[in-house]
Amino acid sequence: MVEISGVHKSFGKQEVLRGIDLTVRAGEVTVVLGPSGSGKSTLLRTINHLEKVDRGTVHVDGELIGYRRRGDTLHELREREVLRQRTAIGFVFQNFHLFPHLTVEENIVEAPVAALGVPVRQARERAKRLLERVGLGEKAGAYPRTLSGGQQQRVAIARALAIEPRLLLFDEPTSALDPELVGEVLDVIRDVASQGATMIVVTHEIGFAREVADTVVFMDEGRIVEQGTPGDVLGRPREERTKGFLSKVL
Ligand code: ADP
Ligand code: MG
Repeated sequence: MVEISGVHKSFGKQEVLRGIDLTVRAGEVTVVLGPSGSGKSTLLRTINHLEKVDRGTVHVDGELIGYRRRGDTLHELREREVLRQRTAIGFVFQNFHLFPHLTVEENIVEAPVAALGVPVRQARERAKRLLERVGLGEKAGAYPRTLSGGQQQRVAIARALAIEPRLLLFDEPTSALDPELVGEVLDVIRDVASQGATMIVVTHEIGFAREVADTVVFMDEGRIVEQGTPGDVLGRPREERTKGFLSKVL
């Protein structure tokens, strides 16, 4: 479902991604761990072309992201094409990024209607079902600011699901939450994973990784240092840097 190959990315002189290769199979959950500044967010953002890669390619469901190949050269796609590709990829951010001036339901209905042309009535019905699914059936008419962080993040997950994405990306979805609200959001993500979604989750929640991940990837300084099953990477890490990181977060 996701094929990342030889991806490099610099900001100015700083090389943030230094040759990333990663494959994620359909229906699998990949958890990405690593210290702050190791390039995790940048990697996620290259997958939907929020960041342009300097070198390498990203394919999602067989489709080259951000570029069209002509002979040996890659030409960047037009904004419209990039937006079309992005509508197949759900993205959940650390800070929710809900539209503050829209109600919960309007937040969820917006993308399916505006980007996919789903009829409003149908989009609303789907939004209601999704809100039930994340335990917020009562909150359709509420504004984001009236909700707790955990509720806002559950709305953000419902919104990401509303486009029926082929792939879901989560960038530290519980890092901005008070500790007592982390569990309710992880429960929703776990539920989505159990329904067979393909997802890449950047998180420091090791317990969640152990339970839900098919593959755990440990990144440091723009490289994948180690990857494997949760049992291997979390239980029997081979690399010193992985061991050092785990000893700090566990
Ligand atoms: P992580 O998510 O693992 O904490 P990031 O991918 O956010 O790491 O950042 C990796 C490095 O790239 C950091 O040093 C960060 O400051 C830098 N960086 C990220 N985005 C930008 C940007 N838009 N412009 C300049 N530097 C950036
Ligand atoms: Mg980050």
